[in-house]
Amino acid sequence: MSIEVRPFGKTTSGQQVHSYTLYLPNGVFCTLLSYGASLQRLLVPDRSGVLQDVVLGYDDLAAYEKAANPYHGAVVGRFANRIEAASFELDGRTYELAANDGPNHLHGGQVGLNRVVWQADPFLAKEGPAVRFYYHSPDLEEGYPGNLDIKVTYTLAEPSALRIDYEAVSDKKTILSLTNHSYFNLRGQGSGSITGHELQIEADSYTPIDTAGIPTGQIEAVAGTAFDFRQPRQIGAQIDKTANGYDHNFVLRGQAGRLQTCARVFETKSGRTMEVMTTMPGLQFYSGNFMEPDTGKEGAHYDYRNGFCLETQHFPNSPRLDQFPSPVLLPGQIYSQASAYIFGSRG
Ligand code: BGC
Repeated sequence: MSIEVRPFGKTTSGQQVHSYTLYLPNGVFCTLLSYGASLQRLLVPDRSGVLQDVVLGYDDLAAYEKAANPYHGAVVGRFANRIEAASFELDGRTYELAANDGPNHLHGGQVGLNRVVWQADPFLAKEGPAVRFYYHSPDLEEGYPGNLDIKVTYTLAEPSALRIDYEAVSDKKTILSLTNHSYFNLRGQGSGSITGHELQIEADSYTPIDTAGIPTGQIEAVAGTAFDFRQPRQIGAQIDKTANGYDHNFVLRGQAGRLQTCARVFETKSGRTMEVMTTMPGLQFYSGNFMEPDTGKEGAHYDYRNGFCLETQHFPNSPRLDQFPSPVLLPGQIYSQASAYIFGSRG
């Protein structure tokens, strides 16, 4: 195993960004960027052993910095997904956040964790090559209370698994929900629609949304609906029965806090499989409904529903809804969550 560090350019404000490529002896590799602690490339074998890049992204920093970058591969936070009216209360005090999605807050604000340059420390862990990213988010950055120290560690393990460990500590009571916003296409990035992928989600219920994409607070059974992924089903099979495609939080089975499987994906043509594991209580399944025509890595063309995201998270809007699992982090308490994406193939 080895790690290759390279300069990836300077941001418009002059900060140096590096790329970190983690290699396994079997040829599997991935590249992370210190900009947004982003997963830029991830090459895994198909059923005949052919490596292809299964995540969407860009070749250069300018593309990552453009306003239209839909969070490719980035760590998002401090609070993943939406908070209604861009505000929440903690101990009787109201905190105002950026309204960057109509009147609502999305993915941490104007300059979320996806748009900052992280410190990085590459190392060879027992399980495989790794890189740990660090970021200090000052009190009230983007409106969130508390000085927050965040560490996100990516580890690539044999034969083909990427694990992400999230750790953070705040000096004030705050809210926190970190995720990774990779867009996957198991046939290979740039190979068109993802609606043919088969998906299974370990959820008996989901959180319905209003027209702005915000959970209303209800929890509804998936049985008999287009949200029933308890058995593997093509993403496209019932997508037209949803208002605008999938962009919903699923209520995961089992006990949050324990790393367990929450989703499985299979792509017939390549034979690639992906299993997602998490310690978090929720999973956002987003079918790329807002994707616009764009040029990605190696000139690849990206368009509507050409990638899907499976974002492990606290429930969106949970800072305002007491019936959802609490996203509150106490001062000095260690936020410790993990997710893993495990790849394979079959006939
Ligand atoms: C959200 C989508 C949003 C997208 C941003 C997803 O996590 O659920 O509603 O448009 O991120 O690209």
